[in-house]
Amino acid sequence: MISASNKRACPVCDSMDAKIIMRFTPSLLAEANPSYSLETLQTILYGKEEGLTYSRCHACGMLYCESRWDEEILNKVYSDAINHVKSREKALVIDKRLSLMRIWMNILRIQKLLGKGKLDGFKVIDFGCGWGDLLDIISGIGVDVMGYDEDAAKTGSSRKRRHSIAEDVDQLTAFGPVDVVVMNSVLEHLQNVKESLRLVKRLLKPDGLFVFGVMDYRSGYIRRNIQVLANNLPALTKNLNPIEHVNVYDYDAAVATVEKYEFDFFSTGHVLRFTDWVPCHKTLINLFNTVERISTKFISSREMSITVYAQNRV
Ligand SMILES: [Zn+2]
Repeated sequence: MISASNKRACPVCDSMDAKIIMRFTPSLLAEANPSYSLETLQTILYGKEEGLTYSRCHACGMLYCESRWDEEILNKVYSDAINHVKSREKALVIDKRLSLMRIWMNILRIQKLLGKGKLDGFKVIDFGCGWGDLLDIISGIGVDVMGYDEDAAKTGSSRKRRHSIAEDVDQLTAFGPVDVVVMNSVLEHLQNVKESLRLVKRLLKPDGLFVFGVMDYRSGYIRRNIQVLANNLPALTKNLNPIEHVNVYDYDAAVATVEKYEFDFFSTGHVLRFTDWVPCHKTLINLFNTVERISTKFISSREMSITVYAQNRV
């Protein structure tokens, strides 16, 4: 059992009242994720297998892993699980590059919608910059961009391409305040979401933009996954993994996070895409946002990625 003192609170609403709804084993995780070595995973997690669970928050419905993994286990799992050759291959995929370009396009669109016409000393932080593929896209005249990532193998590659990479949080803070903080595929990994989002608030200008991308797991998909695990079968996706992905967001949880940390929800990437065809102003975007929010109640069968754009509120 997880001792009460070592339990994580809900990453969205801070409640401690949650109930376990999914249990995993090292072999189920290894089956769903071929980059894991089962034997190594079993050795690392020996005696801690009980912690391989997802719970649902009683207060807000968020799905998360209540166990607090110690640094040693996390370091071992990450160094073992992440195959850098495969990870670099992913960074080369054109669709991945296109999705990052869309993030930058949406950031620029929002600047225009907010009445800005020019980039001049526009500062961006890519928190969790990985291989630096977003830094490549964002860099340019009028833009000052800094990356940060805990994975030194990846940041080494960005440094070679002459990107500024912060060594630590102090260096990021010294670079701020900035116009935009991007956290793409980061929030699901964080054991302490509160600490990181408070940092984002500190790094941003008063009206700065917070952009984060997470997987959006709709309820029907989660229900199916619970059934699969109950039958001792591997999860429907390797992304449902309570060590690496300790927080499992859906659309509502992503929007609730924005509200809890006093950001104003602007839109999602799906909605901002319409501005390619429809000349938009804020009212129309709000209408599209409402339609999207309602549609999340009906589209429930799979995991989707969602990028949330929110403005700092001081
Ligand atoms: Zn909660």
